[in-house]
Amino acid sequence: MLLDGGEPLLRKDLTEIIRYAVRVGVTPHLSTNGLLLDCKTVKKLRKAGLQSIQVSLDGAFSETHNFIRGYSESYDSAIAAIQNARQGGLSVTVNTVLMKHNIKEIPGIINLLIKMKVDFYRVASIVPVNETLKKLCVSTQEFKDLLSFLVKSKRQIRDNLQIILPSNKLVYILDEKADSNIMLSTSLTSNIGCEAGTFLCNITPDGWVTPCVYFSEEQFRAGNIRREKLASIWSKSPIFRAFRNLKLARKCMGCSYLMKCKGGCRALAFYFFGSLKEQDPRCWI
Ligand code: SF4
Repeated sequence: MLLDGGEPLLRKDLTEIIRYAVRVGVTPHLSTNGLLLDCKTVKKLRKAGLQSIQVSLDGAFSETHNFIRGYSESYDSAIAAIQNARQGGLSVTVNTVLMKHNIKEIPGIINLLIKMKVDFYRVASIVPVNETLKKLCVSTQEFKDLLSFLVKSKRQIRDNLQIILPSNKLVYILDEKADSNIMLSTSLTSNIGCEAGTFLCNITPDGWVTPCVYFSEEQFRAGNIRREKLASIWSKSPIFRAFRNLKLARKCMGCSYLMKCKGGCRALAFYFFGSLKEQDPRCWI
């Protein structure tokens, strides 16, 4: 269970939530911008049962990260948070949201994280839920070049850092031996489409259950846990059923990579092309 934001460290009852999750057998993870993650907080979170944390870092240099985050102390806080989490015994993942402003800095971020002995590095594609974000997306060619670089780095890095790729599906087009050689991010479903609504779901702060964090509009609300049990929403909702029985558009259905790629990210397809059935816009086929 990922406790995400907004910023989860603003919640006064956060340790209570973590303790409860552990008590009922759910492993909690936390994603933070790092601004509030001092040593004392790390200790409190550890004591409550948290074992791993994700910190956002959107640039190798303070100028880039602070510009993207819109706050002048963001970078120093994120770096301090990574150090505090490591020293406090948490497993640390650093996440970069990929965009035009930071694509050239990914190699620099990797070098920095190797020096800081971070455990995992994840590059996530920006999902353009509005027109402004669409302008920040990298091109298909830029994405392909970056994916090649990450696959190569993943094989070459001898230190502890593990790279989690920005697409666990499109990597198959790049490298058909990906199964055995590359640690993929979760790809545990046999359905066409991605993990949204098939392997994972999202619960909004006001209780709405949606197929993933990017599908939060009313049309994707499958039910509310304040009125109905999560298990019942998960198994009975027509919205989840639709995500599990997707028929993709002709380009994907006729593609020889379909059974491995499965069409890629549904949120990217939806926000780029306006349809859940279209291909992942990062696809270069
Ligand atoms: S066309 Fe569709 S199935 Fe084929 S590689 Fe691209 S996104 Fe995947």
